[in-house]
Amino acid sequence: MQIESEIARHPGGAVILDGAATSKEIRRQLKEDVSRFIAETGIRPTLAAILAGDNPASQKYVASKEKACARAGIGSRTYPFLSTASQAEVEDVLAELNSDPLVHGILIQHPLPKSMDEPAVLSQLDPNKDVDGISPVSMGRLLAGMDAFHACTPAGMMELLRRYEIPVAGKHAVVVGRSVILGKPMAILLLDANATVTICHSRTKNLAEITRQADILVAAIGKPEFFNGDMIKPGAVVLDAGYNRVEGREGDVGDVDFESAARVASAITPVPGGVGPMTIAMLLKNTFTAAKKSIP
Ligand code: NAP
Repeated sequence: MQIESEIARHPGGAVILDGAATSKEIRRQLKEDVSRFIAETGIRPTLAAILAGDNPASQKYVASKEKACARAGIGSRTYPFLSTASQAEVEDVLAELNSDPLVHGILIQHPLPKSMDEPAVLSQLDPNKDVDGISPVSMGRLLAGMDAFHACTPAGMMELLRRYEIPVAGKHAVVVGRSVILGKPMAILLLDANATVTICHSRTKNLAEITRQADILVAAIGKPEFFNGDMIKPGAVVLDAGYNRVEGREGDVGDVDFESAARVASAITPVPGGVGPMTIAMLLKNTFTAAKKSIP
């Protein structure tokens, strides 16, 4: 729960949903829990990452996950593959990791090189180790209302809503973007939290008319500053999952034009420091959960 005096606001009045501070708090608690777990069981929760290809964003992301694991006392291993590696080579290592009792979570960094069939590789991942929650089995379990790890970015957004005590039940949530890692699972999680959900995508007609009806707007399209204040209902909660590089600009840029949106919204995530840090926190949390569940 956030204490009112600690809540930062934009000059326009919107609450800034501080993912960086929230993630830090989750990871601080996790570090304590992991340390106690290791002392009691002798098991170090461990995450293995398969990183194939030379995508600089993926390399940066995996490196920051390694650092975050180390800080939380979680073990991490990275299995790098050249972009010329074959799918069979990746699948062989995945099979070893699936059966390695010292590995509790496995992350297959998206995107795999174009030469590989990503869903086919993901479908071989042991669902009990799918801490990124994006394998077909985990997605199916989510849809069926069964226990499963949830995709980390959507799970991070839901955790932010929960910690800021933002009501979801009965609200109209509009999710723009329908990717397997982001838009689709986010829509299901909101639905499970009893929101009325509309999913939009690149073929949606009159998008602004729909986004202006959203009590909760999730921007997940990968287009810098696409959503401005005119597309947002006054008082809406805006979650910006976008991370975009724009030439000539420092750092990452979200899918939402923060300045104009923050003058209309009641709460909004900044970029950076909003949704991004929550993704890593959820990955670590899931790895710890997988380690706990691995004990017979
Ligand atoms: P993606 O796989 O490229 O999917 C983009 C989605 O947006 C697609 O469903 C696409 O529609 C839709 N879209 C594209 N342009 C649109 C438009 N003009 N109007 C409406 N819908 C549009 O991207 P993603 O992997 O979901 O990532 C989305 C963004 O989130 C990116 O900026 C990415 O960097 C960021 N991201 C952040 C994190 C994090 O940790 N914070 C994690 C993952 C991704 P169609 O399906 O019709 O093509």
